[in-house]
Amino acid sequence: MSLGEDRQVIYMDNNATTKVAPEVLEVMLPYFSEQYGNPSSMHSFGGSVGKMVVGAREKVSSLIGAQPDELVFTSCGTESDSTAILSAIQSFSDKRHIVTTRVEHPAVKNLCEQLDTLTGHKHKITSLPVESDGTIDLNRFEESLTDDTAIVSIMWANNETGVIFPIEEMVEITKNRGILFHTDAVQAVGKIPIDLNKVPIDFLSISGHKLHAPKGVGVLYVRKGTPFVPFMTGGHQEHGRRGGTENVTSIIGLGKACELAATKMNDENTRVKALRDKLEEGLLSNIPSSILNGHKTLRLPNTSNISFEYVEGESILLHLDRYNICASSGSACTSGSLEPSHVLRAMGVPFTAAHGSIRFSLSVYNTEEEVDFIIDKLPPIIANLREMSPFWKGSHPGQVGGANCKCSC
Ligand SMILES: *Cc1c(COP(=O)(O)O)cnc(C)c1O
Repeated sequence: MSLGEDRQVIYMDNNATTKVAPEVLEVMLPYFSEQYGNPSSMHSFGGSVGKMVVGAREKVSSLIGAQPDELVFTSCGTESDSTAILSAIQSFSDKRHIVTTRVEHPAVKNLCEQLDTLTGHKHKITSLPVESDGTIDLNRFEESLTDDTAIVSIMWANNETGVIFPIEEMVEITKNRGILFHTDAVQAVGKIPIDLNKVPIDFLSISGHKLHAPKGVGVLYVRKGTPFVPFMTGGHQEHGRRGGTENVTSIIGLGKACELAATKMNDENTRVKALRDKLEEGLLSNIPSSILNGHKTLRLPNTSNISFEYVEGESILLHLDRYNICASSGSACTSGSLEPSHVLRAMGVPFTAAHGSIRFSLSVYNTEEEVDFIIDKLPPIIANLREMSPFWKGSHPGQVGGANCKCSC
């Protein structure tokens, strides 16, 4: 049996979600069955579960250079993002300005857009543009800050392109201005080193399922001394910062996942990065009119976002799916809205290219054999699709290639 044909999945969609590491699952299992105590209980049966939560808190904090009591366990990255931003605007009720970017994950982008209308346009949102390679202009960032700015919310690494923002520099610019700094670090944690001892960030969001822990658990880091208003009020859990009985099993799993991430970060930045580069170079050199989206080096080691001009991303994904190759596309042609990804649009990627963008996001579980398989299978897929595309033929008369684009784009 060869790759892809025995329904063995080639999973390169790790920025969407990751597999729970076997080591993570193993430590979780007893807490679904025998060890079902409530960590807040006075008896030692519950107390032993509480100790595991304490241990997990230490493991997560050591991955990011935080103190254990600076972490609040949440239900997901989205909750962490919402908690940070809503807390800041409630803490600083006299400040009405928020600085963010045009390329944030919907968890931040849509919240900021809604805040503006929910508060009767009392909040002014500055969504900073990005350059064509997805990077940010620090001067423009500095100029956007005002005395009215309550919080900056800017992601550490972009989920679609992998582009890494210079968070350290931005924090430095924001420092001593009474502005809170939140970063959605969901894609960065576990992939690149983060040391909060050195970077005075106020809030940082983590999501378990992006680093081989289960779905449905997240963390909000809240720096000691940062004003905080809970998102969920209830019991005394999380030192009163988030009510609700802890998602014990997932928290224990997340602790293990963070411990593993620390040991595998080197592999991620050498072997996985080399696999990503091989895939990228193999595709770019074998497929005409293919373009890399995002900065070549200021990028996560696992992510590659490539546009295949005049082809529809969804069509490519369907063909890849036949080989059990999982990737993702930035466009949402199927919705009928014909809206390409807001990230690629913010980068000014032309329509014909944005529609045909595919994101490959690798993990430590990928192999060179899988990369070779994709480099072998994708070029003919693109050529066949282009053969059917009037747009490709129109722009490349006489050449073979193009998109089965049923939409009127
Ligand atoms: C996945 C993701 C989120 C959302 O995390 P959930 O745990 O799925 O809510 C937020 N931000 C970024 C950058 C992400 O990639």
